Amino acid sequence: MLIETGGLVALIAAGSLMFGFLGTVLAGILAVIAVVVLSLRLTSQFRELTEDVIRMTSIDRSHRLDPTGPAELTRLARAVNRLVERVDDDISEDTEERIRLSSILNSMREGVVVVDDQGVIESANPASVEMLASLGEVEPGMQLTSLTNHPDVIRVVTESMETEKPISAEIELFDNQRTLMAVSTPFPRPDTDVVRALLLLTDLTDIRRLDTTRREFVSNASHELRTPLAGIRASAETLQRGAIDDPEGRGQFLKMIREDVERMDMLITEMLELSRLESGESALIFEDVGPQVLIDTAVKKFSAIAVDAEVELNSVFSGDLPMVSVDAEKIDHVFTNLISNAVKWTPVGGTVTVKGWVDDGTVWFSIADTGLGIEPEHLPHIFERFFKTDAARSQTGTGLGLSIARHIVDAHGGVISATSTVGEGSEFAFTVPTDRS
Ligand code: ADP
Repeated sequence: MLIETGGLVALIAAGSLMFGFLGTVLAGILAVIAVVVLSLRLTSQFRELTEDVIRMTSIDRSHRLDPTGPAELTRLARAVNRLVERVDDDISEDTEERIRLSSILNSMREGVVVVDDQGVIESANPASVEMLASLGEVEPGMQLTSLTNHPDVIRVVTESMETEKPISAEIELFDNQRTLMAVSTPFPRPDTDVVRALLLLTDLTDIRRLDTTRREFVSNASHELRTPLAGIRASAETLQRGAIDDPEGRGQFLKMIREDVERMDMLITEMLELSRLESGESALIFEDVGPQVLIDTAVKKFSAIAVDAEVELNSVFSGDLPMVSVDAEKIDHVFTNLISNAVKWTPVGGTVTVKGWVDDGTVWFSIADTGLGIEPEHLPHIFERFFKTDAARSQTGTGLGLSIARHIVDAHGGVISATSTVGEGSEFAFTVPTDRS
């Protein structure tokens, strides 16, 4: 531009030197025409530049200005290009950061919710929506109450913002039977006095359930161990008080002590077995066995006991049974528990039948008796640990046998169930898959 202006001045000076006044006038007119032409070109270059800037900032961020033309415009175009590139880099970094943050939040098992001081949700990850069992869609901008109405959740969030301290509470959700730990931590919005709350939700359901199971186990085990211990103490005291000098009484009390010790031994053995099965410590050793072999082994073991109890024990097979892939020792334990229960609860003259059959590729076993049967209200609980029906309380038995059987069948990927009619008998059936793959 400077060069062009200098050129015009030089033109007028040259005109007046060479042609006098007329030359000056002509040179002046030429100069005016040149100025008009130049400014028109400049205006159009500015218009193009403006359109390019608009395009680059609002339509196509990859577009860049063409740094050609007058020196000032070239510099301006280069400066604008640099500025746009820097802004572009900042936006990309910001977008990447947002994507990274949202993928972390989306994949978290903990619920994370950010709430502002008006109770408006700024962000809520899917885990928080799932944990609080929110019914509708939850979007940023909605009130916290659209995510949950639980008074304790609302309280920890509000209190943490009011006191500007972290507040936590253990929360029971009755709708979905969950226990959550809710921790709300206040944090300021950058460059303002406004305080927001970051609510972190952790699911404690499994831990609490395990705690309850463990407590119940300890209390049940102590209770079961106390009975034989009390028996041993009573027998020992009676012996001490003089029964020891009576040869007949002495023998009887020593027999009682021995029976109580055996009961405790059985209880401890079964508790250990159950605990090993539950913790997955007791690994199964699979082998291919014929179902008939499994049934024959178990039935043979009980033949003398059944004769003593005057109960008929027999086995039935239907069709050709395929080999099963099982931990034979553990499955024998299932048979032992089920057959011993059946013989125990079947009165003299009754029958216990062990059956094996195949249905749709699955091998089934069942142990049916013609015994006392189980009351319908007890039937759903008989596989629970330490469960005994009223009739069984006075009997020896730990209440763990069926629980152990269920764990072993579960570990094989099978199912176990019971049906019973009081006064007619019971039938326990379980499956063992033939194909382990
Ligand atoms: P237990 O060591 O007491 O036999 P189980 O877990 O094997 O423990 O059985 C739980 C309870 O289920 C028993 O106490 C008994 O009341 C009931 N039960 C199990 N099998 C039979 C059966 N075949 N007939 C009647 N009641 C049974």
